[in-house]
Amino acid sequence: ICWSGKGGWHRPRVQPYGPISLDPAAAVLHYGQEIFEGLKAYRHADGSIWSFRPDANARRMQRSAHRLALPELPVEYFIDSLRQLIAVDGDWVPSAPETSLYLRPYMFAKEAFLGVRPADKVAFYVIASPAGAYFHGGVAPVSIWLSTDYARAGRGGTGAAKTGGNYASSLIAQAEASAQGCAQVMFLDSAEGTYLEELGGMNIVLVYRDGSLVTPKSDSILEGITRDSILQLARDRGHTVEERPVTIDEWREGAESGDIVEVFACGTAAVVTPIAQLKAANFTIGSADAAAGEITMSLRKELTDIQYGREEDRHGWLTRLDAG
Ligand code: PMP
Repeated sequence: ICWSGKGGWHRPRVQPYGPISLDPAAAVLHYGQEIFEGLKAYRHADGSIWSFRPDANARRMQRSAHRLALPELPVEYFIDSLRQLIAVDGDWVPSAPETSLYLRPYMFAKEAFLGVRPADKVAFYVIASPAGAYFHGGVAPVSIWLSTDYARAGRGGTGAAKTGGNYASSLIAQAEASAQGCAQVMFLDSAEGTYLEELGGMNIVLVYRDGSLVTPKSDSILEGITRDSILQLARDRGHTVEERPVTIDEWREGAESGDIVEVFACGTAAVVTPIAQLKAANFTIGSADAAAGEITMSLRKELTDIQYGREEDRHGWLTRLDAG
């Protein structure tokens, strides 16, 4: 579907997958004016196809659009585009356990000009790809690398938007993490370098001995829909849940004293993944062979049971995508 200042949103259609043509001066290629989302389509046992809180993705895309000076796509158009794709390509939603079809909606400035201003011609696409487990080795606990040389986003920047620039600035740190044998990079805040932010593509949650769950509060991280859902499930079980600034020292000291008993990462792709250890240039928290935490794994199970229709959807989180 396309957008122009004059015509608004127009020309919705499903077309065969293949290269798209762009003017060499298209604004997105030079100024990075683009945003995206990530969500999944799940096949239930009866064959029906569902997605998980697509309205939340649609609204987050609207917030990202606002920050990147892109037009707002109505929530109904967003969900309708997923339905149209599934109507044609529903067979691509796998039925093997814990697999899904990853859906990638994205919007970019295609107007051709050289100059810094919001573009007047924009395109919105959705592509899809079957997905298995995010980390090699399934849900085995992973090691993550603490980036101290690079920040992902700064105050007043685009950290809270899902835009390619944030990921571009994280690539060098992600490469560093891989070279250290770690699955993901952990970013700290850009101002003081002491507060936890998020991983390259996931939010982080700490579990305390008293059963409370703590996750970093920051204006420069992506508000994950998985995180929001997991915290709701934890609240339902009576856990105390706090969103507040957390320093790396709090994690380090809490892990040493035994106050912090589990740490996990969460996101659409990774679902809920236990973190075995954090490696930094001059210290390590945890150990590579740490076992997955019980609370982590049981929240993961509850979330995936809801997503795959094995447990009642008591929060009304599922939206049907196939015609039924
Ligand atoms: N932070 C970042 C930087 C991400 O890329 C993602 C994945 N979209 C998340 C957090 C988790 O968000 P969600 O749970 O909505 O997938």
